[in-house]
Amino acid sequence: MDNPRITVWNEFRHEKSHEEVIRIYPDGIHNAIAEGLRENGLSSVRTATLDEPEHGLTPDVLAETDVLLWWGHMFHGQVSDEVVDRVQERVLDGMGLIVLHSGHFSKIFRKLMGTTCNLKWRESNDTERLWVVAPGHPITEGIGEYIELELEEMYGEHFDIPHPETLVFVSWFTGGEVFRSGCCYTRGAGKIFYFRPGHETLPTYYHPEVRRVIANGVRWAAPVPGGHGARQRAYGNTPALEYEGVRA
Ligand code: ZN
Repeated sequence: MDNPRITVWNEFRHEKSHEEVIRIYPDGIHNAIAEGLRENGLSSVRTATLDEPEHGLTPDVLAETDVLLWWGHMFHGQVSDEVVDRVQERVLDGMGLIVLHSGHFSKIFRKLMGTTCNLKWRESNDTERLWVVAPGHPITEGIGEYIELELEEMYGEHFDIPHPETLVFVSWFTGGEVFRSGCCYTRGAGKIFYFRPGHETLPTYYHPEVRRVIANGVRWAAPVPGGHGARQRAYGNTPALEYEGVRA
């Protein structure tokens, strides 16, 4: 898919109340992420936020979304179950989903993973080095052996997720911890990529390599042209290919 239709979803509350966050992301984290996608040649980008009606994720918006990106932190509980069910249904039908940073605790990610998605964390200005452990994977295109982020929040193992189908990045932090920071899954016909960096008080979403990975993730997670979504798949009672009726 050359130019997937992208929706960037953000809680968009920190940027209204926390001075430090307002300073770094004056237009909101969602707009910084959207700008990074456009910079990487993905032009069909819209945004949606928690306080819009239906959190901006109406059936029409989701029907026109090939890949959804999700950033949330403090207000996961305010996302309505109806919208979460709607997003899950679209993922199972083939929509890609990119879950960023503290989105690990979002209702939609926990629902799709089936585990607590809990982890260790610390805000103490650690340096993070994200090592590429799947060289050649499309999500690592244009990235060297590792990405170094001078300042980031630490997330540490154990991260309570199912084993990733492909582990793309493993992070090391100056505090000594490691973390599975780039994880690929499929659920139904949909592809899911969890990508760790992106704490709200740090300018991570302006980092060119972080932007590149997120854009690569969108291209990887976009549905395959021609339609292999759940609606195109055959299920249920089915006639035999090699004989008619019941085999004699
Ligand atoms: Zn954070």
